[in-house]
Amino acid sequence: MEVGISIDRAKILISESKLNLPSENIHLDNANGRILAEGLPSKVNDPRFNNSAMDGWAVREADCQHGGETILKIVGTIQAGAEQTISINSGEACKITTGAPIPNGADAIVIVEDSRVDGNNVIIFGPAKKSFIRIKGENLSKGNLALSEGTCMTASTISLAATMGYDEIPVYRKPIIGIISTGDELVMPNSKINDHQIFESNSFGIAALVEKMGGDPIRYGIVTDSIDQLRKTLNHAVDNCDAIITSGGVSMGDWDIVRKIMETEGEINFWKVNMRPGGPPLFGKWKKKPLFGLPGNPVSSHLVFLMLVCPWFSNTYGIEETAPPNLGKKVRVRMKDAVKGAKNKLCLRRIKITSRDKELEASTHTHQGSGNIHSMVAHNGVTLLPPNTDAKIGEIIDAFWFN
Ligand code: AMP
Ligand code: MG
Repeated sequence: MEVGISIDRAKILISESKLNLPSENIHLDNANGRILAEGLPSKVNDPRFNNSAMDGWAVREADCQHGGETILKIVGTIQAGAEQTISINSGEACKITTGAPIPNGADAIVIVEDSRVDGNNVIIFGPAKKSFIRIKGENLSKGNLALSEGTCMTASTISLAATMGYDEIPVYRKPIIGIISTGDELVMPNSKINDHQIFESNSFGIAALVEKMGGDPIRYGIVTDSIDQLRKTLNHAVDNCDAIITSGGVSMGDWDIVRKIMETEGEINFWKVNMRPGGPPLFGKWKKKPLFGLPGNPVSSHLVFLMLVCPWFSNTYGIEETAPPNLGKKVRVRMKDAVKGAKNKLCLRRIKITSRDKELEASTHTHQGSGNIHSMVAHNGVTLLPPNTDAKIGEIIDAFWFN
C-alpha cells in the first residue's frame, strides 16, 4: 500500500484497474451519452449524389452573363426526393430545390432570388455558382471511419451515425457502480431526524456524477459504522456491480471502518492523496473489484470523484481524460480574489469563473469548508493551485471549470 501520494501517481495506480466492458448494440434513440465500442465506417457516400445546396435554377455556368441578364429556356423542375431524369443543353435551365439531384448537363446553380420567370423562360440576373452544387462524397466517402471507438455519442455524433446508415450502434455496456454511504450520523432526507444527525447527501451527488460519466449507479443506502454491516453490504454490492464507491470512514479515526475493513479483509493500493480538500481517499479492491473510498465531507467526495474517479472512467473507455464524457475542462483564469494554497498539496478552492473581455476571471464567494456543499453550488469551478503556492489578486492560474 502506498500512502500520501501525488494525484499523478494515484491516477497511474487507478489506471491499472480499468474495467473491461463488453459491448452491446443499442438503437440510436437510446444512444445519447453512450460510448462507441467500435469504430463505425460509413455505409454510404455523403452526399450520396451531386445535389443542389440552394433553391433556384440548375444551369450551365458558361451560359450566364456576368453582370448582365441571361434568358434561359425552362425545361423542367426537379425537387428533393425525385429521381433525376432531366438533361439540360446550352441555353436551358431546370428549376431545382435544395437537396435535389443535379440534372445532366448542369454544372452550376443560380439562386431563386437572382431570377424571375417570364413565360417559358427564366431571366437570370445573378451569378451561376458551381459551389452551390454539393458533390457526391465530398463530406465522407463510403467506408470512411468517421466515428472512432471511444466516441461519446452526442447530438452531432448521433446525427452522423444516422447519416452513415446506422440505426443501431455498438456501445460499451454501462459500468455499474455501487454506492455505499457510511456513518452513524446519517439519515435519509425527509425522514425523522434527531439533533445529532444529518441528512445523507453524498450518495445522491455521487450517483449523479456516475451518470454524467456514463455509468449506471446503484445506491445501497446508509451503512452505520459497523464492520459487519459494511462487509455484508460490500459483498452484496460486489455481486451486482463492476466497481464500488464508498463515502466516509477513510480517515484516521477509530470509526473509520472503510479503511479498517479494507486493511484487514480487502486490498488497498493507496491511501491519502496530496490534494485539499479530499486528502484521505483510498483505492483498492474488494473481492477483485475496484473500490474507491471517498472521504465523507461532501465537497471532498465530489472533488475526489473529479480528480480520481473521472480519469478511471476515461481509462475504462480508452479515451483521453479531456474527451467527453467529463465534468468540465482545464482553463486559465485571472484571480479577482486572493486564495491561499495548501502545504504540499494541490489546492482546489471553489471559484466562480466568468468570461470577461478576452479572458476568464475567478472570484470566491462562500466559506470554503469541505463540509460546505453550498460552496459547490455558489461556484462553478476550482483552482488547481500547485502545492505550496498562493494566488494573488490579478494572477493568472490553472483552474477547472465545471460543465
Ligand atoms: P468521515 O469521512 O466519515 O469522517 O466524515 C466526514 C464528514 O462528512 C463528517 O462530518 C460526516 O458527518 C460527513 N459525512 C459523511 N458521510 C456523509 C454523507 N453520506 N452525506 C453527508 N455528509 C456526510
Ligand atoms: Mg464517518
